[in-house]
Parts: sequence; C-alpha cells; structure tokens
Amino acid sequence: MSNKSTDLNDPLKTESASNLSSNVENSQEISPMSTSQVNVLTICYDNGVSCKDCPNHNKLMCQLDYKDSLIFAWPFLSFIGILVWGIIRSMNQGNLGWLGLAIFIVFYLSYGFFFFNIWESKILCSHCPFYVIDDSKTLKCYANYGFLKSAKYNPAPISKSEQYQFIIGASLLFVIPLIFLLIVQEFLFAGLVALFYIIFFLNTSNNSCKKCPNFSCILNRVPQDWKDEYLRRNPVMREAWEKAANR
Ligand code: SF4
Ligand code: SF4
Repeated sequence: MSNKSTDLNDPLKTESASNLSSNVENSQEISPMSTSQVNVLTICYDNGVSCKDCPNHNKLMCQLDYKDSLIFAWPFLSFIGILVWGIIRSMNQGNLGWLGLAIFIVFYLSYGFFFFNIWESKILCSHCPFYVIDDSKTLKCYANYGFLKSAKYNPAPISKSEQYQFIIGASLLFVIPLIFLLIVQEFLFAGLVALFYIIFFLNTSNNSCKKCPNFSCILNRVPQDWKDEYLRRNPVMREAWEKAANR
C-alpha cells in the first residue's frame, strides 16, 4: 500500500508506535480473543469483554445498533422515494416511456450492485473493522448491512488512490439519478433530489462520520484520542497502521 498517513489519518501522530505497543502490553483491560464472558458482535478483538471499561464506550460506533442505521439511512430512503415519485410523474406526463424506464433501472441497479458489492467493498469497506466483525461472506455494519465482502480484509489505512476512487464512485451514485430526472424534465424533483443529497451529506458528516471506525475514510471525523484508544484495543489494525506510518 502506497498510503503515507496524513495528520488527519494518522492515529499515531500523538503517540509513537512503540509507545502504543508498550501501552498494549501493559494494559490490564486488553485481552484479545478472550470471548468467554460476553458474546456480542463488536469491532474489538475481545468481543465486548472490556467495553464497560473502555473510554470509547457509547462514543465510537463499534457494534451493531439499529439506531445508527436509521440515522444514516433516512435521507437516502427519502431520496429514493422522491426519485420514484419523479419517475411516476414523468411517465404520467408522457416524458418517459417503459423502455426508457427499463434502461434506467437496469443501468442504475447494475452500477449500484457493482459499486456496493465490488468497488466500495474493496476500496473502503475492506479496511474497516466492521468487515471482520464476523466471518460471514456479507457485511454487518450500520450502513452497508448485507452487501458482499468481495475483497480480502486489509487492516491498513485506505490509500489516497482508494480515497479518490470512493469519492468518484459515490458521486456517480448520486449524479446518475439527478441527470436522469433532468433528461425526463422533472426539474422540481431533480431539485428535491439535490436537496436531499445535501441533507444526506450533512447528516452523515455530523453523525456517522464522527463516530465511524473506518478512520482512514476521506470523510471520517473521529477525534484523534478516540482513534488512539481504539487502536490499543485492535492489535491487528494497530500493527498494519504502524507499518504504513513507518513507510
Ligand atoms: S472500542 Fe471496543 S472495547 Fe471500546 S466500547 Fe467499542 S467495542 Fe467495546
Ligand atoms: S461502516 Fe462504512 S466502511 Fe465500514 S463496512 Fe460499513 S459501510 Fe463499509
């Protein structure tokens, strides 16, 4: 991986790699894989044993919670509803026929399938602790529950190239329906869709991105001390981040 960690993405900037390692060795709280006492799906290697003593408890998004999914999803679901409404209206107005609708649906669903299950899975999710919250073939996380894990888990930070790919890929997901609504002359619905894109971005940025454990995502806004604390509790990710920081 060619990524050189930036200040934003480097959880080790406030503490050297060796300090972190010795903190882990000396900690009483961290006992990777000791899963006997608690059995919940968490992104830490002790499966919840040390959660109640963890400074990140109820701060970092580190286990599945339907409330996190609802907060993340409502603007996106609203956008889908507006898109469908705009399509129906356009057909009623005679600006869109069944063939045009079929072409759009096949094209957009194909792109969505490719983006979520293959492209984003590789460039974003395969770096996320949620990717290995269990050993199933599908993701279990607040945002992309059920999509395929099509790449090998990579605990190292996301590279710059992958960050840019994510921005391009996600933007296409939003731009395609917007252009479609403009083509079928549903200008009001195009405006509403654009408005919900802004709401989606602001909502995600102010909620999910402030507590999501995929720290090297270009949109991530988790405070540095939360990242440092989490890396003490995830030896696999910490080692990969130390290696990337020392390159
Ligand atoms: S960071 Fe880990 S130990 Fe801390 S609350 Fe989350 S899952 Fe539990
Ligand atoms: S939390 Fe985000 S980056 Fe992590 S697996 Fe889910 S969608 Fe992917």
